[in-house]
Amino acid sequence: MSLSEFAIIRKYFATLTTDDSTVQCGIGDDAAILSIPDGMDVVVSMDTLLQDHHFPPDTAPADLGYKALAVNLSDMMAMAAEPKWVLLSLSLPEPDEDWIEKFAAGFGELARQYAISLIGGDLSRGPLSVTVQIQGLLPIGTALRRSRAQRDDLIYVTGTLGDAGVALDIIREKRCIAELHKKHFLQCLNRPEINIAVGIRLRTIANSAIDISDGLLADLGHILEASQLGAEIEIEKLPLSDPMQVSVDKTAAWNYALTAGDDYQLCFTASENRHDQIMSLFNEMNIPVCCIGKTTGTGMLISRMADGTEFKPTGKSYAHF
Ligand code: ADP
Ligand code: MG
Repeated sequence: MSLSEFAIIRKYFATLTTDDSTVQCGIGDDAAILSIPDGMDVVVSMDTLLQDHHFPPDTAPADLGYKALAVNLSDMMAMAAEPKWVLLSLSLPEPDEDWIEKFAAGFGELARQYAISLIGGDLSRGPLSVTVQIQGLLPIGTALRRSRAQRDDLIYVTGTLGDAGVALDIIREKRCIAELHKKHFLQCLNRPEINIAVGIRLRTIANSAIDISDGLLADLGHILEASQLGAEIEIEKLPLSDPMQVSVDKTAAWNYALTAGDDYQLCFTASENRHDQIMSLFNEMNIPVCCIGKTTGTGMLISRMADGTEFKPTGKSYAHF
């Protein structure tokens, strides 16, 4: 590598520290120093992306940089936090400046969109892996929790479901999709759009929320388990993208929507009397939202067809172990 480790950090990463009164000291000392505004809770999370486990080996470095931040932003959205500061730990088989430049560009593109400050991290040699730790702020006590869903809440999801799962099958050559539509699916996998405002605006409206990273059934299942509830989902109400509807048969599409991971949409629950408010809020934000079912007291998660029969998905949700 032509540049030293420190020169790389200065050139590509220190430039992503924002000029912000909360950052007393960013990159360059042994640790960063942050000033937490009065009346705020700090919300912290971390996610690792490992080659082959979380992304295909030929993922473009800019897409990987974008996605490493996006999956962490998704957790902030689901807690209703405003993301503020990130740390980046990057392990590379060999220090390739061209790769790092592209990675930092993808990461920086999204960081700038939300004025997030990169305040530190680590560079090491090893199998390709990216870990991002993110911290956000919210007014004390206003976080959206998985455990606070109520019985008879309506269940909502944003955007469309299953598209990233189709992209993974395209890459693994398990599914053929017309060239015209491929781009849509790959874009959903590589550049998931995270709408931080959704979480923030739902702080006082929703009862519970989770981001869909492992598939709707698995993630809604986490809400239900934490809240000790069940749910009934109306399978025909699952939001499917136009490319999904024209390229995949209905049963397969529902399987993707229920069990494929990597969607990074928000699933939330709210009491029925909030429905009109939720519809006009999302209309105002110009973000698609769908009511897909209702929580129950049974402890079971059931997907039903319009005629009442149960739909049992064949796919398995993404499991980490
Ligand atoms: P130390 O040797 O004390 O661990 P480093 O040499 O790892 O310090 O890092 C020096 C500075 O550069 C620190 O402020 C650290 O947070 C920052 N840094 C290192 N790697 C990265 C990275 N990939 N992205 C952002 N900041 C980094
Ligand atoms: Mg270090």
